[in-house]
Amino acid sequence: MLKVLKNAMPTALPGVREAGSGSVMRMEAVILTPELLKQIEAKLLERKQQLAEELDRYGKFEDFGRGEDENAAEIATYSDNLSLGQTLASALRDVNNALSRIASGTYGMCRYCNEPIPEKRLLARPTSSSCVKCKTEKKAL
Ligand SMILES: [Zn+2]
Repeated sequence: MLKVLKNAMPTALPGVREAGSGSVMRMEAVILTPELLKQIEAKLLERKQQLAEELDRYGKFEDFGRGEDENAAEIATYSDNLSLGQTLASALRDVNNALSRIASGTYGMCRYCNEPIPEKRLLARPTSSSCVKCKTEKKAL
């Protein structure tokens, strides 16, 4: 049985009040301030450094041409490292993309809908290139 819950509809929110002096109402997504952008850029550069070091270490595992016996173990290790390497490389690519968006002034805009990505999301995931809504829609495809 379908029943429309008309009574459950709130008529007014008693907790909401108008700000007395000067409206402090703001859009959640604002254009990033240069300070915030610097902060995010610093985070990205730090991440890039880490990833580069990890990739460098990973690269040292690629060592073939030894005895037969060691080969099997090495190949197993190699394929583990291969996926790690791919993960690292793709993370590094994301970081580089984010840095180039900062450089070109397009950072913080969703690449699908072109709307600003909320600051909170950018701070949590500085490599984000899409808003949560588009991300969710893309994933659902
Ligand atoms: Zn979007």
